[in-house]
Amino acid sequence: MNERYSRQILFPGIGKAGQEKLSDARVLIVGCGALGASHAEMLSRAGVGHLKIVDRDFVEFTNLQRQTLYRESDAAERLPKAIAAKMRIAEINSEVEVDAAVADVNRSNVEQLIVAADLVLDGTDNFQIRYLLNDACVKLGKTWIYGAAVSSYGTTMTIIPGETPCLRCIFEEMPDAGSAPTCDTAGVIMPIIASISAVQVSETIKLLVGARADLHRSLVQFDLWQNDWRKIKLSKPNPDCQTCGAHIYDFLDAESPEFSAVLCGRNAVQIAPPRPTTIDLESFGEKLGHLSDVKTNEYLVRFTSGENEITVFRDGRAIVKGTDDVSVARSLYARFVGA
Ligand SMILES: [Zn+2]
Repeated sequence: MNERYSRQILFPGIGKAGQEKLSDARVLIVGCGALGASHAEMLSRAGVGHLKIVDRDFVEFTNLQRQTLYRESDAAERLPKAIAAKMRIAEINSEVEVDAAVADVNRSNVEQLIVAADLVLDGTDNFQIRYLLNDACVKLGKTWIYGAAVSSYGTTMTIIPGETPCLRCIFEEMPDAGSAPTCDTAGVIMPIIASISAVQVSETIKLLVGARADLHRSLVQFDLWQNDWRKIKLSKPNPDCQTCGAHIYDFLDAESPEFSAVLCGRNAVQIAPPRPTTIDLESFGEKLGHLSDVKTNEYLVRFTSGENEITVFRDGRAIVKGTDDVSVARSLYARFVGA
């Protein structure tokens, strides 16, 4: 076994046999922003042999404060994150095989993306994809590790279908569009990213080497600014859960509503929320106060991000101008409106 892993092999929880399991393992990282980049770096240094990284975004200068894999040159060239991550990992550990996919994860491709993975790691920034991942992972019996961080707080849980509660056992309904803070409205500090990612990656390594008795089996939450650390012990799945109890996969089911995106006119995309919602435009406009050109009236909030002008209406719809790429529009919606 390669000398580079000697300190990890020395660690009794992993050992030589564990290291061999890591090198054979296949992990899918969905989203390679702050959390995903941290997962990818730690797993490649640890010698996890096969990583698949899926992300729909490009590197921007505002990412560099917390997205550890990326450099100024990646932002200057507007490289897709999945591609920049693959290039950087090749420099960190050339033994790791990285499959980079520049793609929007949706119900048409999610099962195909996860089917070959031993484990799925959440590096996304929105609930729409997380509920979809939960459906797909429960359906295919794949373990996935939920993680989220914004501002100075974060949360994570490890979901083993049939054994632990799933995301919907704990959070039955997706938060309404515009109701939850995002990194683009509330900000974020890097230490919370590193902390949540550290818990997710530790759980990943435990699962891959077979140390299941050491899983935390909790909903872990902490706030690094308020010094508040919580661990809510989880027991069995909820037998009344729509997803893992009744096996009804609302988010995978084509009949169910999801955030629809349609091209409207030239160079504009409209995003609509999956169920009726009402956005408090005044407070939404205030949340965007750090942007220089926010216009709020009783019907809409309009602001710009880079080359895109985004108009959000009271019913949760948004029109993103400056693109005809649905995944770019969905990404901006997730970042600023949140869902
Ligand atoms: Zn469930």
